[in-house]
Amino acid sequence: MENKQKARVISEYRGAYKVKNEKGEFLAKVTGKKMFDASSREDYPAVGDWVAIDELPESQAVIKDILPRRTIIKRRAIEKGSVQVIATNIDVAFVVESVGRDYNLNRFERYFVIARDGGIKPAIILNKIDLIPKDDLDIKLEELKKRFPDVDVIATSIVRNEGLDELKKYIEKDKTYCFLGSSGVGKSSLINKLLGGELIKTEDISSYSERGKHITTNRQMYFLESGGAVIDNPGMREVGMTNVGEGIVDLFDEIFELSRKCKYKDCTHTHESGCEVLAAVESGKIDRDKYLNYLNIKKESDYYEMTDLERREKDRDFGKFLNKAKKSLKDYGHKN
Ligand code: GDP
Ligand code: ZN
Repeated sequence: MENKQKARVISEYRGAYKVKNEKGEFLAKVTGKKMFDASSREDYPAVGDWVAIDELPESQAVIKDILPRRTIIKRRAIEKGSVQVIATNIDVAFVVESVGRDYNLNRFERYFVIARDGGIKPAIILNKIDLIPKDDLDIKLEELKKRFPDVDVIATSIVRNEGLDELKKYIEKDKTYCFLGSSGVGKSSLINKLLGGELIKTEDISSYSERGKHITTNRQMYFLESGGAVIDNPGMREVGMTNVGEGIVDLFDEIFELSRKCKYKDCTHTHESGCEVLAAVESGKIDRDKYLNYLNIKKESDYYEMTDLERREKDRDFGKFLNKAKKSLKDYGHKN
Protein backbone atom coordinates (compact mmCIF):
# COMPACT_ATOMS: atom_id res chain seq x y z
CA MET A 1 0.00 0.00 0.00
CA GLU A 2 1.09 3.55 -0.72
CA ASN A 3 1.00 5.00 2.75
CA LYS A 4 3.49 2.53 4.15
CA GLN A 5 5.89 4.04 6.67
CA LYS A 6 8.74 2.97 8.85
CA ALA A 7 8.33 2.88 12.63
CA ARG A 8 10.05 1.37 15.64
CA VAL A 9 8.41 -1.05 18.05
CA ILE A 10 8.67 0.48 21.52
CA SER A 11 6.50 -1.94 23.48
CA GLU A 12 4.66 -5.17 23.23
CA TYR A 13 1.50 -6.28 24.93
CA ARG A 14 -0.43 -9.47 24.17
CA GLY A 15 -0.21 -9.33 20.42
CA ALA A 16 -0.54 -5.55 20.25
CA TYR A 17 2.42 -3.29 19.76
CA LYS A 18 3.17 0.34 20.36
CA VAL A 19 5.18 1.70 17.47
CA LYS A 20 6.69 5.14 17.06
CA ASN A 21 8.00 7.34 14.31
CA GLU A 22 8.38 11.05 13.70
CA LYS A 23 4.60 11.38 13.29
CA GLY A 24 3.83 9.94 16.68
CA GLU A 25 2.89 6.74 18.43
CA PHE A 26 0.51 4.11 17.09
CA LEU A 27 -1.19 1.07 18.52
CA ALA A 28 -0.37 -1.59 15.97
CA LYS A 29 -1.32 -5.14 15.15
CA VAL A 30 0.21 -7.64 12.79
CA THR A 31 -1.81 -8.40 9.64
CA GLY A 32 -3.66 -11.69 9.40
CA LYS A 33 -1.47 -12.76 6.50
CA LYS A 34 1.74 -12.07 8.38
CA MET A 35 0.45 -14.06 11.36
CA PHE A 36 -0.44 -16.94 9.09
CA ASP A 37 3.08 -16.92 7.59
CA ALA A 38 4.77 -16.82 10.97
CA SER A 39 6.24 -20.19 11.82
CA SER A 40 7.81 -19.27 15.14
CA ARG A 41 7.93 -16.60 17.79
CA GLU A 42 10.95 -15.15 16.03
CA ASP A 43 8.74 -14.16 13.10
CA TYR A 44 6.73 -11.77 15.27
CA PRO A 45 7.75 -8.21 16.02
CA ALA A 46 9.81 -7.54 19.13
CA VAL A 47 10.77 -4.37 20.97
CA GLY A 48 13.48 -2.61 18.98
CA ASP A 49 12.28 -3.85 15.60
CA TRP A 50 11.94 -1.51 12.68
CA VAL A 51 8.66 -2.30 11.00
CA ALA A 52 6.73 -1.21 7.92
CA ILE A 53 3.29 0.04 8.91
CA ASP A 54 0.07 1.19 7.31
CA GLU A 55 -1.44 4.05 9.24
CA LEU A 56 -5.08 3.75 10.29
CA PRO A 57 -7.33 6.40 11.88
CA GLU A 58 -7.15 7.14 15.61
CA SER A 59 -3.44 6.49 16.00
CA GLN A 60 -3.73 2.88 15.00
CA ALA A 61 -1.66 0.99 12.49
CA VAL A 62 -1.10 -2.37 10.86
CA ILE A 63 2.35 -3.95 10.86
CA LYS A 64 3.02 -5.23 7.35
CA ASP A 65 6.60 -6.31 7.68
CA ILE A 66 9.59 -6.57 9.99
CA LEU A 67 12.77 -5.07 8.56
CA PRO A 68 15.90 -7.21 8.82
CA ARG A 69 17.27 -7.31 12.37
CA ARG A 70 20.84 -6.15 12.86
CA THR A 71 21.21 -7.70 16.30
CA ILE A 72 19.03 -9.73 18.61
CA ILE A 73 18.75 -10.76 22.25
CA LYS A 74 17.03 -14.09 22.68
CA ARG A 75 16.11 -16.21 25.60
CA ARG A 76 15.40 -19.87 25.39
CA ALA A 77 12.46 -20.93 27.50
CA ILE A 78 13.66 -24.27 28.86
CA GLU A 79 10.26 -25.78 29.65
CA LYS A 80 8.55 -24.78 26.45
CA GLY A 81 11.52 -25.47 24.24
CA SER A 82 10.95 -22.27 22.29
CA VAL A 83 12.99 -19.19 21.65
CA GLN A 84 11.80 -15.86 22.92
CA VAL A 85 13.04 -12.70 21.28
CA ILE A 86 13.59 -10.16 24.03
CA ALA A 87 14.73 -7.20 21.95
CA THR A 88 16.38 -6.37 18.64
CA ASN A 89 18.63 -3.82 16.97
CA ILE A 90 20.63 -3.09 20.10
CA ASP A 91 24.07 -1.60 19.55
CA VAL A 92 25.60 -1.84 23.00
CA ALA A 93 24.74 -4.01 26.00
CA PHE A 94 25.83 -2.52 29.31
CA VAL A 95 26.70 -5.41 31.58
CA VAL A 96 26.18 -4.10 35.11
CA GLU A 97 27.70 -5.45 38.30
CA SER A 98 27.99 -3.78 41.65
CA VAL A 99 31.27 -3.82 43.53
CA GLY A 100 29.74 -5.72 46.42
CA ARG A 101 28.82 -9.38 46.69
CA ASP A 102 27.74 -9.49 43.06
CA TYR A 103 31.18 -8.67 41.66
CA ASN A 104 32.34 -11.65 39.64
CA LEU A 105 34.56 -11.72 36.54
CA ASN A 106 33.06 -14.96 35.22
CA ARG A 107 29.60 -13.48 35.35
CA PHE A 108 30.75 -10.60 33.16
CA GLU A 109 32.04 -13.14 30.70
CA ARG A 110 28.72 -14.98 30.66
CA TYR A 111 26.87 -11.85 29.69
CA PHE A 112 29.48 -10.97 27.07
CA VAL A 113 28.81 -14.30 25.42
CA ILE A 114 25.10 -13.55 25.27
CA ALA A 115 25.73 -10.09 23.84
CA ARG A 116 28.27 -11.22 21.27
CA ASP A 117 26.09 -14.16 20.31
CA GLY A 118 23.46 -11.62 19.25
CA GLY A 119 25.99 -9.39 17.47
CA ILE A 120 25.94 -6.77 20.22
CA LYS A 121 28.97 -4.96 21.61
CA PRO A 122 29.28 -5.34 25.39
CA ALA A 123 30.46 -2.62 27.77
CA ILE A 124 30.97 -2.82 31.53
CA ILE A 125 29.30 -0.69 34.17
CA LEU A 126 30.79 -1.16 37.60
CA ASN A 127 28.20 0.36 39.93
CA LYS A 128 27.99 1.26 43.64
CA ILE A 129 31.62 2.33 43.76
CA ASP A 130 30.71 4.40 46.82
CA LEU A 131 30.74 1.15 48.79
CA ILE A 132 34.49 0.54 48.55
CA PRO A 133 37.66 2.58 49.14
CA LYS A 134 39.43 4.09 46.13
CA ASP A 135 42.32 1.61 46.41
CA ASP A 136 39.97 -1.37 46.10
CA LEU A 137 38.31 0.23 43.12
CA ASP A 138 41.65 0.73 41.38
CA ILE A 139 42.49 -2.95 41.90
CA LYS A 140 39.18 -3.98 40.39
CA LEU A 141 39.57 -1.66 37.41
CA GLU A 142 43.06 -3.06 36.84
CA GLU A 143 41.67 -6.59 37.03
CA LEU A 144 38.94 -5.81 34.51
CA LYS A 145 41.40 -4.24 32.10
CA LYS A 146 43.66 -7.28 32.29
CA ARG A 147 40.92 -9.85 31.79
CA PHE A 148 38.83 -7.91 29.24
CA PRO A 149 41.25 -5.60 27.42
CA ASP A 150 38.80 -4.83 24.60
CA VAL A 151 35.80 -3.92 26.75
CA ASP A 152 35.07 -0.34 27.87
CA VAL A 153 34.52 0.13 31.60
CA ILE A 154 32.50 2.86 33.26
CA ALA A 155 32.57 3.10 37.06
CA THR A 156 29.46 4.65 38.59
CA SER A 157 27.79 5.57 41.82
CA ILE A 158 24.18 6.64 42.00
CA VAL A 159 24.64 7.73 45.60
CA ARG A 160 27.60 9.99 44.91
CA ASN A 161 26.57 10.94 41.37
CA GLU A 162 29.83 9.63 39.96
CA GLY A 163 30.48 8.39 36.45
CA LEU A 164 26.99 9.32 35.32
CA ASP A 165 28.16 12.09 33.01
CA GLU A 166 30.66 9.69 31.51
CA LEU A 167 27.83 7.21 30.96
CA LYS A 168 25.68 9.88 29.32
CA LYS A 169 28.53 10.85 27.02
CA TYR A 170 29.10 7.22 26.11
CA ILE A 171 25.58 6.96 24.72
CA GLU A 172 25.50 8.04 21.10
CA LYS A 173 22.74 9.51 18.99
CA ASP A 174 20.63 6.99 17.03
CA LYS A 175 22.11 4.05 18.88
CA THR A 176 20.23 1.64 21.11
CA TYR A 177 21.39 0.31 24.46
CA CYS A 178 20.27 -2.27 26.98
CA PHE A 179 21.29 -3.13 30.53
CA LEU A 180 22.08 -6.69 31.56
CA GLY A 181 22.94 -7.91 35.02
CA SER A 182 21.66 -9.56 38.17
CA SER A 183 18.81 -7.96 40.03
CA GLY A 184 19.83 -5.43 42.64
CA VAL A 185 22.97 -4.19 40.90
CA GLY A 186 21.34 -0.85 40.08
CA LYS A 187 20.08 -1.14 36.50
CA SER A 188 16.80 0.72 37.11
CA SER A 189 18.58 3.39 39.13
CA LEU A 190 21.05 3.95 36.29
CA ILE A 191 18.33 4.09 33.65
CA ASN A 192 16.29 6.49 35.76
CA LYS A 193 19.31 8.76 36.09
CA LEU A 194 19.78 8.70 32.33
CA LEU A 195 16.16 9.63 31.82
CA GLY A 196 16.56 12.51 34.22
CA GLY A 197 14.52 11.12 37.06
CA GLU A 198 11.56 9.95 35.00
CA LEU A 199 10.28 6.78 36.65
CA ILE A 200 10.31 3.70 34.46
CA LYS A 201 7.83 1.62 36.34
CA THR A 202 5.17 4.24 36.61
CA GLU A 203 4.98 5.32 33.00
CA ASP A 204 2.22 3.54 31.11
CA ILE A 205 0.55 4.22 27.83
CA SER A 206 -3.16 3.69 27.52
CA SER A 207 -4.95 3.23 24.25
CA TYR A 208 -8.16 1.83 22.88
CA SER A 209 -8.07 -1.14 20.56
CA GLU A 210 -10.47 -1.21 17.60
CA ARG A 211 -13.01 -3.13 19.67
CA GLY A 212 -12.99 -0.32 22.17
CA LYS A 213 -11.20 -2.43 24.72
CA HIS A 214 -8.77 -0.62 26.94
CA ILE A 215 -5.19 -1.71 26.48
CA THR A 216 -2.37 -0.64 28.73
CA THR A 217 1.15 -1.22 27.55
CA ASN A 218 4.22 -0.73 29.61
CA ARG A 219 6.75 1.29 27.75
CA GLN A 220 9.85 -0.74 27.10
CA MET A 221 11.95 1.60 25.02
CA TYR A 222 13.04 5.04 26.15
CA PHE A 223 14.46 7.90 24.15
CA LEU A 224 17.09 10.04 25.82
CA GLU A 225 17.60 13.74 25.21
CA SER A 226 20.92 12.93 23.55
CA GLY A 227 19.06 10.98 20.86
CA GLY A 228 20.10 7.56 22.10
CA ALA A 229 17.57 4.90 23.10
CA VAL A 230 17.44 2.43 25.97
CA ILE A 231 15.48 -0.81 25.99
CA ASP A 232 14.35 -2.15 29.33
CA ASN A 233 11.61 -4.78 29.32
CA PRO A 234 10.68 -7.58 31.72
CA GLY A 235 12.35 -10.22 29.52
CA MET A 236 15.62 -8.31 29.59
CA ARG A 237 15.79 -8.91 33.32
CA GLU A 238 15.73 -12.65 32.82
CA VAL A 239 18.47 -12.71 30.21
CA GLY A 240 21.44 -14.61 31.51
CA MET A 241 20.12 -18.13 31.29
CA THR A 242 20.08 -18.34 27.54
CA ASN A 243 22.27 -20.62 25.44
CA VAL A 244 25.40 -19.32 23.81
CA GLY A 245 25.99 -20.67 20.30
CA GLU A 246 28.36 -18.63 18.16
CA GLY A 247 29.36 -16.11 20.81
CA ILE A 248 31.46 -18.70 22.55
CA VAL A 249 33.69 -18.92 19.49
CA ASP A 250 34.39 -15.20 19.67
CA LEU A 251 35.10 -15.10 23.32
CA PHE A 252 37.15 -18.21 23.72
CA ASP A 253 38.91 -18.19 20.36
CA GLU A 254 42.16 -18.73 22.19
CA ILE A 255 40.87 -22.06 23.44
CA PHE A 256 39.44 -23.03 20.07
CA GLU A 257 42.71 -22.20 18.37
CA LEU A 258 44.62 -24.46 20.75
CA SER A 259 42.08 -27.26 20.58
CA ARG A 260 42.94 -27.82 16.91
CA LYS A 261 46.30 -29.11 18.07
CA CYS A 262 44.86 -31.51 20.65
CA LYS A 263 45.82 -35.14 20.12
CA TYR A 264 42.20 -36.31 19.87
CA LYS A 265 39.66 -34.75 17.53
CA ASP A 266 36.84 -35.08 20.06
CA CYS A 267 38.99 -33.85 22.95
CA THR A 268 36.87 -32.41 25.76
CA HIS A 269 39.91 -30.59 27.22
CA THR A 270 39.21 -31.98 30.66
CA HIS A 271 41.46 -35.01 31.20
CA GLU A 272 42.90 -36.19 27.87
CA SER A 273 46.60 -36.71 27.35
CA GLY A 274 48.04 -34.57 24.60
CA CYS A 275 45.47 -31.85 25.23
CA GLU A 276 46.92 -28.48 24.24
CA VAL A 277 44.28 -26.57 26.16
CA LEU A 278 45.11 -28.30 29.45
CA ALA A 279 48.80 -27.76 28.79
CA ALA A 280 48.16 -24.05 28.33
CA VAL A 281 46.19 -23.90 31.56
CA GLU A 282 49.00 -25.72 33.43
CA SER A 283 51.62 -23.37 32.08
CA GLY A 284 49.49 -20.33 32.94
CA LYS A 285 49.11 -19.27 29.33
CA ILE A 286 45.37 -19.56 29.74
CA ASP A 287 43.77 -18.08 32.82
CA ARG A 288 42.45 -20.84 35.08
CA ASP A 289 39.16 -19.03 35.88
CA LYS A 290 38.57 -18.35 32.23
CA TYR A 291 39.12 -22.02 31.49
CA LEU A 292 36.67 -23.14 34.19
CA ASN A 293 34.11 -20.66 32.98
CA TYR A 294 34.56 -21.97 29.47
CA LEU A 295 33.78 -25.50 30.69
CA ASN A 296 30.67 -24.27 32.49
CA ILE A 297 29.34 -22.36 29.54
CA LYS A 298 30.15 -25.22 27.20
CA LYS A 299 28.31 -27.67 29.41
CA GLU A 300 25.26 -25.45 29.43
CA SER A 301 25.32 -24.85 25.72
CA ASP A 302 25.67 -28.59 25.04
CA TYR A 303 22.68 -29.17 27.26
CA TYR A 304 20.56 -26.75 25.28
CA GLU A 305 21.66 -28.26 22.01
CA MET A 306 20.80 -31.69 23.32
CA THR A 307 17.24 -30.67 24.14
CA ASP A 308 17.00 -29.16 20.66
CA LEU A 309 17.95 -32.47 19.15
CA GLU A 310 15.50 -34.28 21.34
CA ARG A 311 12.82 -31.92 20.19
CA ARG A 312 13.65 -32.62 16.58
CA GLU A 313 13.50 -36.35 17.26
CA LYS A 314 10.16 -35.95 18.87
CA ASP A 315 8.93 -34.00 15.84
CA ARG A 316 10.21 -36.75 13.56
CA ASP A 317 8.45 -39.43 15.60
CA PHE A 318 5.27 -37.45 15.39
CA GLY A 319 5.74 -37.15 11.61
CA LYS A 320 6.13 -40.94 11.34
CA PHE A 321 3.04 -41.40 13.42
CA LEU A 322 1.11 -39.08 11.10
CA ASN A 323 2.35 -40.87 7.99
CA LYS A 324 1.40 -44.20 9.44
CA ALA A 325 -1.99 -42.90 10.41
CA LYS A 326 -2.52 -41.45 6.91
CA LYS A 327 -1.40 -44.72 5.32
CA SER A 328 -3.74 -46.85 7.37
CA LEU A 329 -6.56 -44.46 6.52
CA LYS A 330 -5.73 -44.85 2.82
CA ASP A 331 -5.56 -48.64 3.18
CA TYR A 332 -8.88 -48.50 4.88
CA GLY A 333 -10.24 -46.45 1.98
CA HIS A 334 -8.98 -48.97 -0.60
CA LYS A 335 -10.77 -51.80 1.10
CA ASN A 336 -14.07 -50.00 0.95
P1 GDP B 1 18.16 -3.43 39.57
O1 GDP B 1 17.45 -4.60 40.15
O2 GDP B 1 19.43 -3.84 38.89
O3 GDP B 1 17.29 -2.59 38.67
O4 GDP B 1 18.63 -2.51 40.80
P2 GDP B 1 17.98 -1.19 41.40
O5 GDP B 1 18.21 -0.03 40.51
O6 GDP B 1 16.56 -1.49 41.77
O7 GDP B 1 18.86 -0.98 42.72
C1 GDP B 1 18.91 -1.90 43.77
C2 GDP B 1 19.31 -1.19 45.05
O8 GDP B 1 20.64 -0.70 44.97
C3 GDP B 1 18.43 0.01 45.37
O9 GDP B 1 18.17 0.02 46.74
C4 GDP B 1 19.28 1.20 44.96
O10 GDP B 1 18.98 2.35 45.71
C5 GDP B 1 20.67 0.68 45.28
N1 GDP B 1 21.70 1.35 44.47
C6 GDP B 1 21.67 1.59 43.14
N2 GDP B 1 22.78 2.21 42.74
C7 GDP B 1 23.55 2.38 43.83
C8 GDP B 1 24.85 2.97 44.06
O11 GDP B 1 25.52 3.47 43.17
N3 GDP B 1 25.33 2.90 45.34
C9 GDP B 1 24.63 2.34 46.35
N4 GDP B 1 25.19 2.35 47.56
N5 GDP B 1 23.41 1.81 46.17
C10 GDP B 1 22.87 1.83 44.93
ZN1 ZN C 1 42.07 -30.79 24.34
